[in-house]
Amino acid sequence: MSDQVLERGEQRTLDIDPDRLLRRVAELARIGADPMTGGITREGFSAADRQGRTYLMDQARTAGLAPSVDAAGNIVVRACPGSVGGEAGERQVLMMGSHLDTVVNGGRLDGAYGVLAALEVVQTLADSGLDTACEPVAVAFANEEGALFPQPFWGSMAVAGRLDALPQEPADHHNRPLREALRRAGGDLDALGSACWPAGSIAAYLELHVEQGPVLERSGNRIGVVEAITGRTVLTLEVRGSAGHSGTSPMAGRRDAMAAAARVVLATENLATERRLCRVATVGRLDPHPNTPNTIAGAVRLTVDLRDTDVWRMTGAEQVLRRMLRSIELSTGTEIEVVAETRSDPVSADLRLRTAIEQSADALDLTHEVLPSGAGHDAQVVADLAPIAMIFVPSLGGISHVPEEDSRPEDLVAGARVLLRTALRVADGTVL
Ligand SMILES: [Zn+2]
Repeated sequence: MSDQVLERGEQRTLDIDPDRLLRRVAELARIGADPMTGGITREGFSAADRQGRTYLMDQARTAGLAPSVDAAGNIVVRACPGSVGGEAGERQVLMMGSHLDTVVNGGRLDGAYGVLAALEVVQTLADSGLDTACEPVAVAFANEEGALFPQPFWGSMAVAGRLDALPQEPADHHNRPLREALRRAGGDLDALGSACWPAGSIAAYLELHVEQGPVLERSGNRIGVVEAITGRTVLTLEVRGSAGHSGTSPMAGRRDAMAAAARVVLATENLATERRLCRVATVGRLDPHPNTPNTIAGAVRLTVDLRDTDVWRMTGAEQVLRRMLRSIELSTGTEIEVVAETRSDPVSADLRLRTAIEQSADALDLTHEVLPSGAGHDAQVVADLAPIAMIFVPSLGGISHVPEEDSRPEDLVAGARVLLRTALRVADGTVL
């Protein structure tokens, strides 16, 4: 479909069904909901998650679509039954989606909104009978959050063929094997390789998501066009000093691990504030020993989380932090051991897809702005395989991963409309 077709008005009437989308968002939000807090708990591969997955597949079937489950437990919704992994020579796929699983006591929109909007777009296109160069496909990636089984991005990693990065026999926090939970969800650990999509089979991946931050609400813009998903470095630090009596140990000569850890917290904050070496820097966890009021701390474990959209800035910030740690060691008489737990590189959104999103928002008279994604998303993993882009809608109060997470219904509808229009532009093969 070229703009010529657009001018002929054939697509001007093509629209998602807003009521159907909002009804599904509300219905899915009842699954795993805590009546007391209003929070939603659908940890990946839990019983509630399975219910959510069943809901999605029922909705897809009722819509006349063909849902299937791949070996990794991802739900793939196509207009007609097809091979789950895609095969060379078939029509390229325009993949859209997100995840259905949540954190513990999370919100109703993170992930779920993107999946239901993708379903809405695939259903709208299927019902329209339009013949597109790319096949629109909706995907619900399994276990994105990693709340129960600590393998976040499990499903998208399998789709992208990053099996070497996944454990052989994953287990949850209670040492229960993923193998069994995956089987109950329709997957098969022994056939994980079959969930991988071949290179070239996916033309593009689009993910619609709530912003989970305050940028759009503050600016008043309706649509966010993600320029990049931030990279993340997580360091675990162990500060070692000497425990002692808080009343009898003179201040001179102390090796106070807590005082040293406090300096590490401030040095970390300073990286992003005064020094502006990375976008955000956080110490989110502090674990002192022995953690009693009248004892000087002998050791403190803490985590440092650094994020930026530029890999060189992340490397630079970490180098500066390590130098600051050396000087904290010297001034406090402590030793600080640093272990890198996670390093994920920033991932850029495809410029052509970004432009298509902006044009779609313009066509719908929706104001938009370019912004980074501070949170991780399945899109950053699928980027190994295909060009990706993300669309954000405003989050009320800029909050997420909490029961209060919400967005205005008109913004949810607007985001899905931008997804549909962008999908039309991409699926006709003129954007890429
Ligand atoms: Zn999410």
